[in-house]
Amino acid sequence: MRKKHREGTKIWYQDKVKKLKRKCWSLMSEYVRLRDKGICITCGKKYPVMNAGHFKHGCLDFDERNINCQCQGCNTYKSGALDIYAIKLEAKYGFGIIQELEELKWKKPFYTYEELEQIKTDLESKISALKLAELSG
Ligand SMILES: [Zn+2]
Repeated sequence: MRKKHREGTKIWYQDKVKKLKRKCWSLMSEYVRLRDKGICITCGKKYPVMNAGHFKHGCLDFDERNINCQCQGCNTYKSGALDIYAIKLEAKYGFGIIQELEELKWKKPFYTYEELEQIKTDLESKISALKLAELSG
């Protein structure tokens, strides 16, 4: 059993934020893999199990440009294959994207509960839109 914190305390709030952030990340991962049609951004291959790989690690978890579909080989064993990742990002989002993500990474390290709730709602509707589009071909 996980320890329950007393409602209204700071630690209770932080725990609540952490759980919601985890939920948001699993939605983000699902969204990105659907959006990219299961194709790895760095090697272009498709496997039964795909990941959502960061370009900038440990930040910008919910920036659609920073997170792209990757295979396990590129994401884990090649640590993101960042040299190729950078080239692919520029091709996808245009020149300047690397600099922009670099600047953004310092700006928003934490999310409030309300921000995460908004992110969750947005991702859920994007996921259902993609699933609908997939169904109708
Ligand atoms: Zn790959």
